[in-house]
Amino acid sequence: MVKTIGVLTSGGDAPGMNAAVRAVTRAALSKGIKVYGIRRGYNGLIDGDIVELTSKSVSGIIQRGGTCIYTARCKEFRYDEGIEKGKQKCLEFGIEGIVVIGGDGSFRGAADLSAKGINCIGLPGTIDNDIQCTEYTIGYDTAMNTAMEMIDKLRDTAQSHNRCTVVEVMGRNAGYLAVNVACAVGAEAAITLEEPYSIDDIIKELFEAKEHGKNHYVIVVSEGVGNAENIAREIQEKTGIESRATILGHVQRGGSPTVRDRVVATEMGCYAVNLLEQGIGNRVVGMKASKIYDCDIQEALAMKKPFETNVYNAINITAF
Ligand code: ADP
Repeated sequence: MVKTIGVLTSGGDAPGMNAAVRAVTRAALSKGIKVYGIRRGYNGLIDGDIVELTSKSVSGIIQRGGTCIYTARCKEFRYDEGIEKGKQKCLEFGIEGIVVIGGDGSFRGAADLSAKGINCIGLPGTIDNDIQCTEYTIGYDTAMNTAMEMIDKLRDTAQSHNRCTVVEVMGRNAGYLAVNVACAVGAEAAITLEEPYSIDDIIKELFEAKEHGKNHYVIVVSEGVGNAENIAREIQEKTGIESRATILGHVQRGGSPTVRDRVVATEMGCYAVNLLEQGIGNRVVGMKASKIYDCDIQEALAMKKPFETNVYNAINITAF
């Protein structure tokens, strides 16, 4: 019978992490399991920055962005010495299992700790939706909606001034956010790492759009491609259309989570506690065919995720 578990958030933050912490805490308490919040990711595990979470201590957080137990990157945890220190802290606090909310990097740490006998369950938390084993990650929907709202505003001013607005959205290694947001704002083009692009082709599209009567243009660029300033400059030089670049940046990581992020976080949090209660570890909770499921961490890390080619193609078809 599992008596005590921990929960931590690690890597980049994402809206809905609080909802997941709340769900893990309350699901565990409902089973008579004590819960510790481990602060600042794996750093808190190494330093013993660990606090008991009660039902009350997670009240009023479901609607808040960020993470109330803080997040961080922890270099030490990449090495056996750090993981061993983490294990010792678990033994000291009586922590038998941990729910790790984060991305691929955080799951590697969770696998290492599981191998040392502390059962860990990974929950996918990242605005990039770039975790291979799951269709959906906590924070993705909120970030997409934030980016969409910001670009709608940029579009207003682009329209007033007959400009082209080139917007960089987050996603260092993946263009899921860029491609979906581009589709949602009616952009002329999405530039992502996954699909080859040429500025000359995009310029051709802009001219075609102009011929169809368009007087303003939106191009969405994913962070991994970068160069929004250069792209805007090149478009302006080659077309004569006044072009401006905007990098949305960290605004996409904050804000109150959407319904989807709160619900998925809550469901996944409860699911993770069920696994730990059964003495199961080294698993990642994900979503497949819209259902919550779990898989082995190593298998999860080795999976490949298809790009959203249909959404990408739909942008071009519907651009004008
Ligand atoms: P994310 O979880 O969002 O992918 P990172 O890649 O920065 O973010 O990883 C978060 C943390 O997970 C790291 O700072 C480190 O503590 C831990 N981690 C990352 N990779 C490993 C690894 N190979 N072994 C053990 N721990 C790791």
